[in-house]
Amino acid sequence: MATSVKSFPKLRHHVPLSSPPLPPAAIDWLRDIGIRSQADLRQRGVVLAFLQLKASGKTATRRLLFALEAAARGAHWNTLSEDDKQALQRQLAAHPPVALPPSAEEQQDYLIEAMRLADLAAGEGEVPVGAVVVKNGAIIGRGYNQPIGRRDPSAHAEMQALRAAAQTLGNYRLDGCDLYVTLEPCPMCAGAILHARVARVIYAAADAKTGAAGSVANLFAEPRLNHHTAVFSGTLADRCAAQLSAFFRQKRDRHD
Ligand SMILES: [Zn+2]
Repeated sequence: MATSVKSFPKLRHHVPLSSPPLPPAAIDWLRDIGIRSQADLRQRGVVLAFLQLKASGKTATRRLLFALEAAARGAHWNTLSEDDKQALQRQLAAHPPVALPPSAEEQQDYLIEAMRLADLAAGEGEVPVGAVVVKNGAIIGRGYNQPIGRRDPSAHAEMQALRAAAQTLGNYRLDGCDLYVTLEPCPMCAGAILHARVARVIYAAADAKTGAAGSVANLFAEPRLNHHTAVFSGTLADRCAAQLSAFFRQKRDRHD
C-alpha cells in the first residue's frame, strides 16, 4: 500500500514558505491565492492549491506539484518517494475541476437575466426557473422552465438554454461556455451540462429536493464521470429562493 500523502508530521503553525523547496516565484503565486505559511498550504491541500494556481494561469508543472508537497511536509522535494508521487498524481486525476469564479458583477448580471426568464415561466404557470448560457461575455442561449406547456419532461430551464446555445454554435459541445441558473440543477440537467462540456455552472438557490450539484448528490464531483465543469453557487441565492417561494405561495392562495 502506498502511504497516504495526507499523513503529515505534527502541524507547526507560522512556518513561512521557503525556497527551496519552492521556486521563488511560486511563493508569490501562493500568496496571491491566500497561502502564506506551511499551515495555510496544508489546510488548503496540496492538490487544490496546485489546481488553483493552474486555474489562475500559472505554469503548473508536475515538478511544482511535488515541490508543493515537499513544502507542506517541510522537506526537500527529492525526499518524495515514487509512491508519494504516484499517489499525488492519482489525487490530481480524481479531483473535481477547479476554475476561478466569474467576477461578482458578471454573476449578478447574468443571474438577474436568468431571474427575468424565470418570471416568464411563472407567467405561464410553470415553476419559475431561468437559465442563460454565456460565451466570451455574450449570452448565446436563454431558457426557462416549460415542461407543462411543452408537454416535455426534459424542458427544464437549463435544457432549454443548452439547446438554444447549441443551435447558436452549431455544436452540441459548448466548450468555453458558462451556464447561469436560478436554481441548482437536477440530475438530468447536470448530465446534459457535463455532456455538453460546459466550463462553469453558476447557480443561485440550492435545491434540497433534487439538487445534483451538492444538495442531494454531486454529479460534478464524481471522479468516475468524465468531468469538465466547475460549480459555483450562492450569488442572489436569497432572491432566487424568494422568487420560487412567492410562486408556490400564490399557487396555494389561489387554491384556498
Ligand atoms: Zn433539471
